[in-house]
Amino acid sequence: MTYQESVWDKSPSLKYFTLSNFRSIPHIQEMSEEKQFEMEVVGNVLPFKANNYVIEQLINWDNIPNDSMYVLTFPQKGMLRPEHYEKMSATLKSTSDKKEIADVANEIRLQLNPHPAGQMELNVPQLNDGTKLYGMQHKYKETCLFFPSQSQTCHAYCSFCFRWPQFVGMDEMKFAMKEGEQLVQYLQEHQEISDVLFTGGDPMIMKARMFSAYVDALIDAKLPNLKTIRIGTKALSYWPYKFLTDNDSEETLAIFEKAVQNGIHLAIMAHFNHPTELSTPSVIEAISKVRKTGAQIRTQSPLLANINDNADLWSEMWRRQVQLGCIPYYMFAVRDTGAQHYFGVPLVRAHDIFQNAYKKVSGLGRTVRGPSMSATPGKVQVDGISVIHGEKVIALRFLQGRNPDWVQKPFFAKYDENAIWLDDLKPAFSEKFFFEEELEQKYGVKMQH
Ligand SMILES: *Cc1c(COP(=O)(O)O)cnc(C)c1O
Ligand code: SF4
Repeated sequence: MTYQESVWDKSPSLKYFTLSNFRSIPHIQEMSEEKQFEMEVVGNVLPFKANNYVIEQLINWDNIPNDSMYVLTFPQKGMLRPEHYEKMSATLKSTSDKKEIADVANEIRLQLNPHPAGQMELNVPQLNDGTKLYGMQHKYKETCLFFPSQSQTCHAYCSFCFRWPQFVGMDEMKFAMKEGEQLVQYLQEHQEISDVLFTGGDPMIMKARMFSAYVDALIDAKLPNLKTIRIGTKALSYWPYKFLTDNDSEETLAIFEKAVQNGIHLAIMAHFNHPTELSTPSVIEAISKVRKTGAQIRTQSPLLANINDNADLWSEMWRRQVQLGCIPYYMFAVRDTGAQHYFGVPLVRAHDIFQNAYKKVSGLGRTVRGPSMSATPGKVQVDGISVIHGEKVIALRFLQGRNPDWVQKPFFAKYDENAIWLDDLKPAFSEKFFFEEELEQKYGVKMQH
């Protein structure tokens, strides 16, 4: 028997760990009660879910508490601001009433900017008959996001994730849509859309039968404008067996293949935050299987303090991706939500890390763009630091704009080493950034600098 067969005969049976059972993990039991309680405090506010693959194969338990994969999946005390931490800690010490704990959790969550970048109000599309599509977002002309209602969860949760309001049962905030039909109708009414991006949560949490219903609806409608189906997923990283040995793995790959054979480009937007996620035999084999369907794999990740804020790590990650046939796509600046104070990297430093990583990879790795902020007006890339007429500035540009005309126009902000997000920046040479007037008039959004 080859090594491969012995490993990939069948999936290990998936076991989830959440707040209710994490204390049963042997490695966790070795930690002090104080540490376990800290996790419980944070895990009652921010979402927490891990699985046996992450725990057994990705986390290096000899390197706790600094191990990146550990910080990526397990709640850490610093992820809550001290006042929020104290509040939840005191609540847990004084009561075991679930409702009371949940009320305090929600109160804290609402102070964490649960819907940054105007996601709730601004991007909800409508059918011509006025039906609002809460399971979709259409912000940039060519691409619409689709949130299947069955994929509002993931194989494990990233502690930095900005989708966290969807995972903690804040139901009224859940973007959920029951049917692919409305998606098809919307695409028929919007010929400018060429890309549909399935997102969530993680759409690869859906069973193949469910997923194929959506994809088949798109294929069968023979939409001339639909060129690309993208799938935003972290399954390659958190549960590669989805493409290897799960009982719907072959069916999943067959759906990819079918889309490709119908002339649709299938792009897997794979989330990899750390080179470790690209190192196990199972992820390497899963990448190979996905690529054999004709799908392409593009990769993206935010830049995160305490996890991957290191240039060598990024160049290694991009090199490994290229070697495995993946295409580096985006490095994101971490959003202004949740635990940004814990994960945030100032933009100037983010650019420095990006540049130092970028210069160490060949041209094939330089398909990556960043660091990019997905902000209310659009995706804004930090191009670098410059001196213009004796003034030190940060050069910026839109990679995507609410108005496509904004894209690729350079603009400048005053140099600020501490700025973490677009709103922290002040325009250089003018009162306002060039797009601000229009953003305010057309979209009713005022920048807060
Ligand atoms: C990033 C993003 C997209 C896709 O943009 P591309 O630059 O085409 O990858 C689409 N919609 C939203 C809301 C996004 O944030
Ligand atoms: S896999 Fe993606 S959607 Fe899920 S928790 Fe991580 S970043 Fe968020």
